[in-house]
Amino acid sequence: MRERVYRAEALILRRSDFSEADRLLLLATPAGKRRVVAKGVRKTTSKLAGHIELFTHASLLLAVGRNLDILTQSQIISGHSTLRADLRRLSCAYYAAELYDRFTQEEDESRPLFDLLVESFAALDRTASPDLVLRAYELRLLHLAGYRPHLHHCAVCGALLSEEADRFSAILGGVICPRDRDADRGALTLSGPAFRLLRYLQGQPFAMIEGLRLSPQVRGEAEWLLRTYVRQLLERDLKSVAFLDDVKGVD
Ligand SMILES: [Zn+2]
Repeated sequence: MRERVYRAEALILRRSDFSEADRLLLLATPAGKRRVVAKGVRKTTSKLAGHIELFTHASLLLAVGRNLDILTQSQIISGHSTLRADLRRLSCAYYAAELYDRFTQEEDESRPLFDLLVESFAALDRTASPDLVLRAYELRLLHLAGYRPHLHHCAVCGALLSEEADRFSAILGGVICPRDRDADRGALTLSGPAFRLLRYLQGQPFAMIEGLRLSPQVRGEAEWLLRTYVRQLLERDLKSVAFLDDVKGVD
């Protein structure tokens, strides 16, 4: 049985109004996804209100409630204020949060997944290349969720892929070799630079990614390939995709 009061490290991924003065929060924690209530935080006198901003990484004290647990204290570890002040980074954060939400169930315990979120939000807060951080995040999340795209071996026959491979199949879950092209005639064309980029992003730490210089075409292609793959897995687009595209249009 859980204790009546417990501490949890968390990222606040969504906030919504709940009753007159409260907010409902969606949290990512190492113990999985949680929905909790922050009571009275919509009142101007609330001390807790400033400690539960969206996308804050915090150490929380929670009390077990009858239906939902109740947030009683919040100590900020990282406020990610740069991220929240910049529309482009913010749109990436919304997308990252929604992707996590869609690929996890409540109580899906995963320290690696939580660590990935913490690392990704920290990178989105500091980076000049939020799109590349987002691509690396997608690839890592897909790996942890059991959907790692095949980028080194053909998704059909398992043969080691050479530079000649130029098709990405969302249905088959990765790159296919020239011999297996007929396995998915609807597979997307994959350019050499985008292929190399995806492989690089799958294996390198965030610090190695942020300084990459790439053409907008290659960035756009990598985004499109992964978006198509995610859409195939979830059978629809994420809601935050529209926000990402809107912000891009403003640039
Ligand atoms: Zn093959």
